[in-house]
Amino acid sequence: MRYSQLLVPTIKETPAEAEVISHQLLLRAGYIRKLTSGLYTYLPLGLMALQKVAAIVREEMNRAGAQELLMPMVQPADLWQESGRWQKYGPELLRFKDRHGRDYCLGPTHEEVITDIARRELQSYRQLPTNLYQIQTKFRDEIRPRFGLMRGREFVMKDAYSFDADDKGASLSYEKMKEAYHRIFTRCGLSFRAVEADTGSIGGSYSHEFMVLADTGEDTLVICNDCDYAANVEKAAVVLPEADGSSEEKQPLARVETPGMKKVERVADFLGVSPRDIIKTMIFLVDGEPVAALVRGDRQVQEVKLKNLLHATEVEPMADDEVWKRTKLPVGYMGPVDIPIRLVADQEVMRMVNGVTGANEKGMHLTGVNPGRDFEPELVGDLRQITTEDGCPVCGGGLSLTEGIEVGHIFKLGTTYSKAMKATFQDRDGVEKPFVMGCYGIGVSRVVAAAIEQNHDENGIIFPLPLAPFQVIVLNLGVKDAAISRAAEQLYSDLQGRGVEVLLDDRDERPGSKFKDADLLGIPYRATVGKTFAKEGMIELRLRASGETIMLPFAEAGAGIAAMIEQELQKVQDV
Ligand code: ATP
Ligand code: MG
Repeated sequence: MRYSQLLVPTIKETPAEAEVISHQLLLRAGYIRKLTSGLYTYLPLGLMALQKVAAIVREEMNRAGAQELLMPMVQPADLWQESGRWQKYGPELLRFKDRHGRDYCLGPTHEEVITDIARRELQSYRQLPTNLYQIQTKFRDEIRPRFGLMRGREFVMKDAYSFDADDKGASLSYEKMKEAYHRIFTRCGLSFRAVEADTGSIGGSYSHEFMVLADTGEDTLVICNDCDYAANVEKAAVVLPEADGSSEEKQPLARVETPGMKKVERVADFLGVSPRDIIKTMIFLVDGEPVAALVRGDRQVQEVKLKNLLHATEVEPMADDEVWKRTKLPVGYMGPVDIPIRLVADQEVMRMVNGVTGANEKGMHLTGVNPGRDFEPELVGDLRQITTEDGCPVCGGGLSLTEGIEVGHIFKLGTTYSKAMKATFQDRDGVEKPFVMGCYGIGVSRVVAAAIEQNHDENGIIFPLPLAPFQVIVLNLGVKDAAISRAAEQLYSDLQGRGVEVLLDDRDERPGSKFKDADLLGIPYRATVGKTFAKEGMIELRLRASGETIMLPFAEAGAGIAAMIEQELQKVQDV
């Protein structure tokens, strides 16, 4: 491909709308353009990178025995009513009517459609296991679409669904996918980690997320320093140490004035106690109803755990003015004693003796508050976010926290969908049984963004070789010089002849701007044909990632570069 004939609208300034680096660089390097909130056009380079990811995904899914198909993006409501998700999915599901007034949605995921296929087309245990996948555009009306390709409303996903006769088979299918995912992300050249995960709105019993490790990730992961345990903090269970049995004497409840003191630290300072002695009351809107959740003053509520404890669909923190409007509770002075709304508590709170809480009256707190005696939550559970002070839930070892970007998610679904939708097969013993299912997603477009979040510098993108739209960019630094131009053309066609993906920068631009664009685009190898060629017959090869430069005699350049690429790709092929 010739640069002069390719649409690569690079931008010098950082676009103001883009907060994260992958979004900034994808816009600046001319890979994508925004249509409107959460909707992007992939320009030629963006599409090439996307297709690189898709090709690796496809190869590894096929290798694992899955079969590719393509389902409609528009889905009829009746299937979703059968599974029960028409009610449950929430506003991320974009619903609409056709001209006959029938209800439809845009597919955010395809469990319903694939289960419908399975119940029609798979009749016998002899047809199992079957694993079907597609690479397709999904639509989710995300509450906060942002960060470009990281969280779009429309995005490209690979989704796969496995059907097995029993749990044992389903576990095997799951493990196969887990291995395929390891191969996929290794072959993409990414640094990643598989972690235990919450099952979210897809439902099911068991799941892992694949996380690209990057400081800018929206997810926090907890990793054990001593064993293999790694989990999303949404999932990581807090195991409390044995109660030490020291029984401090319970004091009577007392009211104290705490004027203007709304924050945990201020109240603690004022009363001469530690934040650990305070019972913090947080109000959440749980499926439209306000619920109070209690954690120790130095802890954070983990919203996903709260959602699971309450078997809720949607949980969000309530804004202060909303709390007052809906409950007449004074924010900053709230507490569990005689609270007029639903109350749940973190397990740790129930061990507290003589705690301090708000008195549900402006400027007032209570001391000597004792769970069980002074208040009784409707539910108690593990509600708080794990910290590095907690022990590993598996081995008790030390924990580290790190950030990650979720690029893949695999679930054991069990029979949730097959039972709801009466999807059965005839087993060996002649009995009709529901399929045991699994589902497996990869955010193909998010992988492109995640690769950039993990690999960039102040000059631009540093694509891992397997994902780069081109492997090599050849810079012709003498478009008006016949000898240099001839050599650049020759190197270009030599590389093409060797199967190398090469872009020839044949534009009539200053060397400085060619170097800048090559860096911005993130192409792994840059071969310059310029003054050193004219003088000494040498080509300068620069590696984008390390900045290392190598001088190659012109006659050997094509073969040399092709061999280096081959070698580098081999490293990630042999997983
Ligand atoms: P998230 O927690 O980031 O919203 P999710 O748990 O909703 O993700 P899944 O339903 O598991 O995501 O979807 C499978 C994969 O699709 C995810 O692992 C992620 O890589 C990708 N994905 C999900 N939502 C988006 C989005 N809005 N934009 C881009 N990719 C997405
Ligand atoms: Mg989501």
